[in-house]
Amino acid sequence: MSILEKEHLRANLDEVIWNIEEARISVSEHHIVKLVTVAKYTSLENISTLYELGQRAFGENQVQQLKERMDALEKLPLEWHMIGSLQKNKINNLIDLRPTLMQSLDSLGLAEELNKKLEAKESKMNCLLQINAANETTKSGFTSEEAYDMYQTIKESCPNIKLKGVMTIGAHSEDTKQVQKSFETTHTLFEKLKKEGATYCSMGMSSDYALAIKCGSNLIRVGSALFK
Ligand SMILES: *Cc1c(COP(=O)(O)O)cnc(C)c1O
Repeated sequence: MSILEKEHLRANLDEVIWNIEEARISVSEHHIVKLVTVAKYTSLENISTLYELGQRAFGENQVQQLKERMDALEKLPLEWHMIGSLQKNKINNLIDLRPTLMQSLDSLGLAEELNKKLEAKESKMNCLLQINAANETTKSGFTSEEAYDMYQTIKESCPNIKLKGVMTIGAHSEDTKQVQKSFETTHTLFEKLKKEGATYCSMGMSSDYALAIKCGSNLIRVGSALFK
């Protein structure tokens, strides 16, 4: 990679980090936000450069791509997040990859299937419940109404799944108020789930991460803003 390309990536990362700082300080000095770089659009080379620039957590939305990248970069101490919908026939592959966090647990059926396969492999997985906060037909996930009970159900009936919180994708709308509402709904749920051990409220992508942080997000998933 040329020095110019590296400096370009550094400038984008600095801009994102600056925006995160501004948003999180407006919530509280003590509000810490984790940045997961969404690598799905980018090259291995850019991932290594981001590592040199200090970035450690990366996300992918496909098991196959996740595997290729983890294999190619296994010498680097990176953490990997699965953020895309998981097909049932890919569950065993994902378990073998031992991701740091699987953020897209989006149905009870998937949870049961995942738990069964984790049990068979004597393995555990940290997961977030995906919330379809604006009830969009185009999105998978639990409705905010059912999510609280489902969280308990999965905790009790799927002991190999370690639930760590919730994830949502902001409402698909030009109207900021609608997007904000979907974040607020998810954050309210997260607050209720804290006593059940929830620690992550994952919301915010390139177009809306500052808003998400102001609504209480403590984990953002940013891709295109870094690779523009
Ligand atoms: C692609 C993707 C992102 C990142 O999107 P950008 O808008 O490029 O930042 C975040 N979360 C999920 C679930 C994604 O699939």
